[in-house]
Amino acid sequence: PVSSSVRRGLELGEVFIAVKTTKRFHQTRLELLLDTWISKAKQQTYIFTDEADEALQKRMGDHVVFTNCSAEHSHPALSCKMAAEFDAFLASGLSWFCHLDDDNYLNPQALLKLLSSYSPARDVYIGKPSLNRPIQASETMSVRFWFATGGAGFCISRRLAVKMAPWASGSNFLSTSELIRLPDDCTVGYIVECKLGGRLLPNTLFHSHLENLQLIPRPQLPQQVTLSYGVFEKKLNTVELAGPFSQHDDPSRWVPESLARLACSQSLLWNQGG
Ligand code: UDP
Ligand code: MN
Repeated sequence: PVSSSVRRGLELGEVFIAVKTTKRFHQTRLELLLDTWISKAKQQTYIFTDEADEALQKRMGDHVVFTNCSAEHSHPALSCKMAAEFDAFLASGLSWFCHLDDDNYLNPQALLKLLSSYSPARDVYIGKPSLNRPIQASETMSVRFWFATGGAGFCISRRLAVKMAPWASGSNFLSTSELIRLPDDCTVGYIVECKLGGRLLPNTLFHSHLENLQLIPRPQLPQQVTLSYGVFEKKLNTVELAGPFSQHDDPSRWVPESLARLACSQSLLWNQGG
């Protein structure tokens, strides 16, 4: 099993992994994930999307959730999906909630290693700070807080998630995000820091494509919890990894095989004959 070497015996089975996507990315983005890391964490991974897709349902069964959220890149649409993820996690009874975007590569082994150093019975909110300073929201008075960028993935312990429910479950999430007029990932930070007095634990193992991914030293790639790819400052931003595929064949540089092969040689991932 994937978790055998991990301290305190945290199992992947205790982690609820939510991937946010939208109909138009099912083929272009999600399939890459299904062919790579999701295939190693399928029991734990739930896809949250906006439109029915028979092929996807066939592949993921009840691990695909067709939300009634609209297929837009608007604050309400994205908050609607975050609320669906949050509610599904609460209902799952699992110990850890981890949110990912559909352009994130997750290394489940690195995730387990990280989470096993925290207790889900404590308040834990961990991820990559989106800014190098707290964001300011003006509800009734102006408040400042840190939040983990959703595009790098973040995790929340069950204990904290349960406390967040009055602001984060069901339609409450949308109301909260409307109140501060900020996106879904900011809203999560706001609830944790401003409503509950918690703190984001900044962690450097989570990466979005809004940072220069070439700066991650190649030998350290297998230890990273998440990676990403995409456009940053008008250029394609990917990890520095040659791999067997051309940039054209594998524009993400980590899928379908390149990072998997690297990790394989270090016995971190892909060690079950995948
Ligand atoms: N997304 C979505 N609905 C949309 C557009 C995007 O649910 O209409 C999701 C998308 O699948 C991804 C996340 O929102 O998981 C961020 O989208 P994207 O990577 O395109 O934008 P950026 O990273 O630039 O914010
Ligand atoms: Mn993105």
